[in-house]
Amino acid sequence: AAEEGFDIEDVEGAIEAAGHGPLPVLAVVGRPNVGKSTLVNRIIGRREAVVEDKPGVTRDRVTYEAEWAGRRFKVVDTGGWEQDVLGIDASVAAQAEYAIEAADAVVFVVDAKVGATDTDEAVVRLLRKAGKPVVLAANKVDGPSGEADAAYLWNLGLGEPHPVSALHGRGTGDMLDAVLEALPEAPAQTFGTAIGGPRRIALIGRPNVGKSSLLNKVAGEERVVVNEIAGTTRDPVDELIELGGTTWKFVDTAGIRKRVHLQQGADYYASLRTAAAVEKAEVAVVLIDASENISVQDQRIITMAVEAGRAMVIAYNKWDTLDEERRYYLEREIETELGQVAWAPRVNVSARTGRHMEKLVPAIETALAGWETRVPTGRLNAFLGELVSAHPHPIRGGKQPRILFGTQAGTKPPRFVLFASGFIEAGYRRFIERRLREEFGFEGTPIHISVRVRE
Ligand code: GDP
Ligand code: GDP
Repeated sequence: AAEEGFDIEDVEGAIEAAGHGPLPVLAVVGRPNVGKSTLVNRIIGRREAVVEDKPGVTRDRVTYEAEWAGRRFKVVDTGGWEQDVLGIDASVAAQAEYAIEAADAVVFVVDAKVGATDTDEAVVRLLRKAGKPVVLAANKVDGPSGEADAAYLWNLGLGEPHPVSALHGRGTGDMLDAVLEALPEAPAQTFGTAIGGPRRIALIGRPNVGKSSLLNKVAGEERVVVNEIAGTTRDPVDELIELGGTTWKFVDTAGIRKRVHLQQGADYYASLRTAAAVEKAEVAVVLIDASENISVQDQRIITMAVEAGRAMVIAYNKWDTLDEERRYYLEREIETELGQVAWAPRVNVSARTGRHMEKLVPAIETALAGWETRVPTGRLNAFLGELVSAHPHPIRGGKQPRILFGTQAGTKPPRFVLFASGFIEAGYRRFIERRLREEFGFEGTPIHISVRVRE
């Protein structure tokens, strides 16, 4: 590395940064108007339109990446939905419940100017039950005179209230320090799986694509009695199902079965749920209703799974209803709308007739294998060397940027760091990704490539 002009410490740092595993998840919960969205904006350090687009406008985006004191984590924002549908207590509780479930730690936001309300108390009970680490944020303490208000919140029994002003940033640094203490290094749900528990599947898709039908079909008689499996702690919303001789954990199936009929806010609710399920899973099975046009919503759900870095299978359901014409147009749509995830294994199924159910498990296994693939550094560099000499980067400004060497910094999903002598254009990056896929497979998995340029 040294003779290529990179400092060995830079190289190691870059590999470590790129190789991070799945990030721990922080949920920000609380009543409406306490300042959750404002606080999320503060935490992610961007003035995104999280606050502006309220009320009533649905947002699909509910998780954001954040960094504090060199540590990265995800933030789930629950500020974006209508509360007046179920009645305030029920809706706040439901919203908080999903978010808490998906999270490794929680920031509970209370409006210090108002003090603790009954709704706040209800959330406290949920937090106690969930047993996740909680950081209590006493918000709207815009100046020293508000500190006394914050102190009252000791009464909630959640430990020290952290006085903050989400709006002005006051106290948020100290609060974030407390958050880092509360957050585990890696998400509990994931990967460390020392005991080799069942692999976790999120069955996701927009309403009415057939998720609950599919789940019922695959579960069938095979539903596993939890106690039979030694050492499995089961979440009430997860379901263990035996398929193809293996036990799988379908996460967040309660969300599939229990239909929540909401008008307003329903899309946001569904997004939160999807995000939560994806966070908990290793592989996402995205169900698409093949009888209908592929929609923006389908694409957003796919994007969620890809951005979360999960393995992915796409299942086209309701195949029994397709005539020849629809099949023809579906193939065109898949090419144009879903070309960017052509790497995902595909199955054409019918939850109604049971068509191709047996193909689901092999597809999932393929995706998980791709997701865990590790390319040895020697092989990778032999491949890069050949690729660079056969297809050099276009010359820019009289210079030719070159990929000098690379390494795979992590798996689940595969993450690569490439070291280059100059700026590598997006088109060339995509070309490298394509060739990496051709060479090494990576079926069913997103791959990350970051490029470091020599100073
Ligand atoms: P959410 O419904 O909990 O997401 O709350 P929002 O983030 O939308 O904030 C609700 C209102 O409280 C908005 O008008 C914010 O500008 C205001 N707000 C949020 N944080 C603070 C704060 O620290 N101080 C003051 N004074 N107002 C705040
Ligand atoms: P979910 O909202 O995604 O859980 O969807 P459901 O499982 O509730 O299914 C929505 C509707 O589609 C129901 O009327 C199902 O009977 C129907 N459905 C689900 N799968 C199939 C299928 O493979 N073929 C046909 N023809 N209908 C299906």
